[in-house]
Amino acid sequence: MYETITHIDQLIKRVESYNPDADVALVRRAYAFSAKAHEGQTRQSGEPYLQHPLAVAGVLTALRSDVTAIVAGLLHDTVEDTLATSEELEHEFGNDIARLVDGVTKIGKIPFRNYEEKQAENFRKMVLSMADDIRVVLIKLADRLHNMRTLEHLHEAKQQQIAQETIEIYAPLANRLGIGWMKNELEDLCLKSLKPDVYANLTLRVVKRDEERQQYVQEVIQVVKRALADAGLTGEVHGRPKHLYGIYQKMERQSISFEEVYDLAAIRIITNAKMNCYAILGLIHSLWRPVPGRFKDYIAIPKSNLYQSLHTTVVGPKGEHVEFQIRTEEMHRVAEYGIAAHWKYKERGQIGDKDGKIFSWLREFIEWHQDLPDNRQFMDSVKLDLFHDVVYVFTPKGMVKEMPLGSTPVDFAYAIHTEVGDRCVGAKVNGKIVSLKHQLASGDTVEILTSSTQVPHKDWLKFVRTPRAKTKIKHWLKIEEQKRSLEIGRRLLEREFRRQGLPPAQMLKSDRLLEVARDSGFETTDEMVAAVGFGRLASSEVINRLTPSRPSGGGGTVTPESHILKHQPGKPDEKGVKVKGGQDLLMQLSRCCNPVPGDRILGYITRGRGLTIHSVGCPNLEALDYDRDRLVEVEWDTTAPSTHAVKVSVLAVDKTGVLANVSSSIAECDANVSRAEITTREDRKAALDFVIEVIDTAHLDRVLKAIERVDGVITARRIRAWQER
Ligand code: MN
Repeated sequence: MYETITHIDQLIKRVESYNPDADVALVRRAYAFSAKAHEGQTRQSGEPYLQHPLAVAGVLTALRSDVTAIVAGLLHDTVEDTLATSEELEHEFGNDIARLVDGVTKIGKIPFRNYEEKQAENFRKMVLSMADDIRVVLIKLADRLHNMRTLEHLHEAKQQQIAQETIEIYAPLANRLGIGWMKNELEDLCLKSLKPDVYANLTLRVVKRDEERQQYVQEVIQVVKRALADAGLTGEVHGRPKHLYGIYQKMERQSISFEEVYDLAAIRIITNAKMNCYAILGLIHSLWRPVPGRFKDYIAIPKSNLYQSLHTTVVGPKGEHVEFQIRTEEMHRVAEYGIAAHWKYKERGQIGDKDGKIFSWLREFIEWHQDLPDNRQFMDSVKLDLFHDVVYVFTPKGMVKEMPLGSTPVDFAYAIHTEVGDRCVGAKVNGKIVSLKHQLASGDTVEILTSSTQVPHKDWLKFVRTPRAKTKIKHWLKIEEQKRSLEIGRRLLEREFRRQGLPPAQMLKSDRLLEVARDSGFETTDEMVAAVGFGRLASSEVINRLTPSRPSGGGGTVTPESHILKHQPGKPDEKGVKVKGGQDLLMQLSRCCNPVPGDRILGYITRGRGLTIHSVGCPNLEALDYDRDRLVEVEWDTTAPSTHAVKVSVLAVDKTGVLANVSSSIAECDANVSRAEITTREDRKAALDFVIEVIDTAHLDRVLKAIERVDGVITARRIRAWQER
């Protein structure tokens, strides 16, 4: 349709034809630069490589592109295929042009692999979202068009791959941007490559049919021209260019024969004003009877890509159907150039660039479009693409997932499956290990690393972006908290029963306790027990209600710790700690310092949560110093060993297998890993953070030494929560 440009003078002439003030010296300079960079390179066809960027720039002139885009078109393959660098381009041609070339290069690297229909739309959106400038997409389309025009020089498999990609991704993109001629040409070239038999057959039949009906079409055109002249209406009347792929699609989709599709004589009338379109329509309908159901007013209601026209089919001379398209010159321009038809030139052919990313003409385009009621979806997608509030990322199998901007591997993991989210310990983005907090970018390939011992972490809520991930993490934490409260509550009540000389197991299951629960406003015994464990209800209060005859300790709610302090000497807690002097208290090891048998420890009586055990030296404990009365001396009970969670941080060289080797060295020391997270650093090192279950400090030392013996590990050390800040 638009012939390929083969000489620089030809290109300059074309630029000047629509942009007389263009900086052609710059265009020539870019041509010289490109010629030098590609010197000695040839295309598969044998012609000098330079012919390709020249042709691409030529296609851009057909879109009436600005000089910046044309220069970028001339240079578009220099960074990828020659020794030239992005820095060099920036130095020679400025930031804008270097940025456009980078954008085109980036899109060229998207690994299109999956051609399922629903994936294709995501690929198209990915292309748009990766281009922070619509000119990047236009250059990429021009590049693809010339590659399609010269496709026969490549070997068969490559041809098929490029044609497939073009029909799925690029032709629809050209359509989305409203560039009708390019969409049609791309589609016909794809058909030629993907279905050569169909293409050859259709070409033959179209030529034959055209010969047969040329006489007829000319006749109709003459009648229309005369009628227009008689009515004083201006208008050019043409036969329409044929679009083989369109014919093929109609035949396939509606299962009809070539004759049925192509039986129509198709005529286009281009006039000067919108009102004339309707006047001409009336004229045509007065000449021939319209076919019911075939009239479409795309002027009043434009297509989503801004296409406007009146379409009608009439029963023409000799009873044959004739299809008409009626539009203004401006509408025709939009139909041909689409988004590029709204180019506005300012001084020196540059485009006004308000915020560095989005062009004023594109803004106008959008604002103009906003008034159109039925094009919501197109609006949303254009905005989405331009304002970048989403990213498109790949699964390892090449499926594309749409995620909100700022999404992390945890969001991605939950988007795949709850189980994957709950168990994720890290991720590989484009083959490199990243932390869970890492923000994903369009075009990233994301692979989630999971561990069967991993559980969701409260901290994740601070960085996840999707509602789904948030909900799933909160849900898990809530269930965990309920379980924990129930367990603590049960322990507290059992002790209380024992103290009262009541059999704990039986009491917990008794109807009496259920009654007390219901009287206290709970539906089940477990609910009440959990409330005790959570600290909302004192265990002594439950006992008071259970045995009302027993003299109450002053009535009302008794706080747990005041009651616990009255406890008799008892057995050590499951955590392996006993209080010196023998008091039996509800206790827990503090999370800030995670003491392990072997560490020096102190107990602190909290309000409502029993006794917490801290390491001596823990800053949190020191901060509590003013409340010395609440400090209790405790010691480890070594008669019943149990395991304790410790955080361990390992610094290693970032290479494959390190995580696996460290994990197995831990396992060899009979220690469990309950959580692992990996972060790579800029210096090619990786930080591996583990939570490991050990029996005591001696055990921990053994584990740390074993880790340090692993090849690639630099250091392994224990981390206390207070050291992390
Ligand atoms: Mn190229």
